[in-house]
Amino acid sequence: MPQIQLLDGKKISFTKSISGFDLTKKISKSLEKSALIMEVDGELKDLSHEINKDSKVRIITSKDKEGLEVIRHDAAHIMAMAVQELFPGTQVTIGPVIENGFYYDFARKEPFTSDDLKKIEKRMSEIIDRDVKTKREVWKRDRAIKHFKKIGEKYKAEIIESIPKNEELSVYHHGDTWHDLCRGPHLSSSSKIGKAFKLTKVSGAYWRGDSKNEMLQRIYGTCWGSNKELEEYLHRLEEAEKRDHRKLGKEMDLFHFREESPGSVFWHEKGWLLFQRLVEYMRAKQRLAGYKEINTPELLDKTLWEKSGHWDKFGEHMFTSETPDEKIFAVKPMNCPGCVQVFNQGLKSYRDLPLKLSEFGKVHRYEPSGALHGLLRVRAFTQDDAHIFCTEDQITQESLSVTNLILEIYKDLGFENVILKYSDRPEKRVGDDSVWDKSEAALLAAIKQSKLEYSINKGEGAFYGPKIEFVLRDAIGRDWQCGTLQVDLNLPNRLGASYVAKDGTKKVPVMLHRALFGSLERFIGILIENYAGKLPFWLSPAQAVVCSIAEENNEYVKKLFEDLFKEGIKCEMDLRNEKINYKVREHSLAKIPFIIVCGKKEVAEKTVTVRKLGSDKQEIMKREDLIKNMLASNKLPLN
Ligand code: ZN
Repeated sequence: MPQIQLLDGKKISFTKSISGFDLTKKISKSLEKSALIMEVDGELKDLSHEINKDSKVRIITSKDKEGLEVIRHDAAHIMAMAVQELFPGTQVTIGPVIENGFYYDFARKEPFTSDDLKKIEKRMSEIIDRDVKTKREVWKRDRAIKHFKKIGEKYKAEIIESIPKNEELSVYHHGDTWHDLCRGPHLSSSSKIGKAFKLTKVSGAYWRGDSKNEMLQRIYGTCWGSNKELEEYLHRLEEAEKRDHRKLGKEMDLFHFREESPGSVFWHEKGWLLFQRLVEYMRAKQRLAGYKEINTPELLDKTLWEKSGHWDKFGEHMFTSETPDEKIFAVKPMNCPGCVQVFNQGLKSYRDLPLKLSEFGKVHRYEPSGALHGLLRVRAFTQDDAHIFCTEDQITQESLSVTNLILEIYKDLGFENVILKYSDRPEKRVGDDSVWDKSEAALLAAIKQSKLEYSINKGEGAFYGPKIEFVLRDAIGRDWQCGTLQVDLNLPNRLGASYVAKDGTKKVPVMLHRALFGSLERFIGILIENYAGKLPFWLSPAQAVVCSIAEENNEYVKKLFEDLFKEGIKCEMDLRNEKINYKVREHSLAKIPFIIVCGKKEVAEKTVTVRKLGSDKQEIMKREDLIKNMLASNKLPLN
């Protein structure tokens, strides 16, 4: 007699076991149609699963994250089925769900062409129209291995051999002709996938991700709950390609990468100007918020990293070197231990707290070269780091002011859409629960005050304290995790930090780690993509270019260039003997906000002709008005 409790608290009793199909039918006609799978006491199950005891059940549709995932997973299966129908002899390997879609790795000698992808798409569509039914079976291990070997699927057999012996093996049949080993759950039939999918590309991938193994072919697809969502996604993809910071970085002459130093940026003049302007702005914001900027060494003795715990926990990401006197140094992957050493200089009292030490610290972390991606994933980067040393009673106030500072800066830079992620105490942790209570309450208070949307990751805080992560949404709807605020109840103690409390006793301060963007390099990549290269005027590394029409205007151009330069405008001049239209086109491509043209008429009338980026119109203005106009837009956005 199972009693089923639904999400809204409603309870329904049945006289015998009931399947997901019958349950949805019982609830409503519309749910019967839209149901994809269900969650029974926290476990995802096929709708064909029979519930035979009291359970909490959630019916999942394409509006749920899990629903979309199962649609994508089924699409991966149906793609593999289509491939094997079209290209007999192709072996299947693995086909997981990924962000926005799925992929499947195949072993086949001939490469798949883009024409093949079209054929596969068409066949998938046919299989979906056939509405083949799904059937789940539990198989014995030996039977499964023997079976997949017999039908020539050696990769599948190898996967099964590596699955722990106590795990149940399920095989999913899609119709009578195709089946795959899979944990499930799956849709009840192929038509439930719908048609909002598209195969996007094919690339190479090593079996089990190991370059010693054979190369497979990976076909990627995207799949959505509706055609509208699919179209929006494809549009986003197209926009993202246009805005790719690696492409724009080249066009704007900002930076490049090279093999001799993988994941390290070679900044060109303009890229470095942009970098420094961003630092100038953040430095000003931090000074106004009471921070003191410090700088600590990049090479530090191994013993410090052992004491801080990084050697054990983070060692595989650290670059090290040995000196002729046989000492081992590590290039810092984090600024925290160095910062605690600065705090440790001289006796500190409660009157010195909170002490806010900021650092634009260059850190190095080893990443496999395959994971590197332009400015977004590098090995060497500059953290906009700060550590706040405070008393337990100050955690709330300091967390609030960090959150406010981060949100203000995001807003100034054009990001108003921010989501917060909060992670609280994990099972294994250091520190008294009473301090955890305080820290968690402080972070939650800061989140609530911000009135922003937030999610809670239960138990996912660090072992040394709870944290908030700040996620930005960019102009084309992509989310970027950037800032962090983390309470640390561990490191100050490990490195012997202390202060004299009001009652004269020696106490260990609480440390807040805080980064606004995390990595300045990565953030510049995000900025470029968000603005499609058209950066706000004050941040632009090349704000204006003054061009002469003919050689006789050169003196006038030089004088204007110098006057703008003295006013702090980042300006260039173009005296080349080229057609003016050619010059204008070139500077537009480099995304220079003000293109200033000076010819005979301008010289005579002491005016300039200005073409602003993104506008076809030309504007004639007095020289003085131009300068005034630019100076007003060039102020740092400090409110
Ligand atoms: Zn830190």
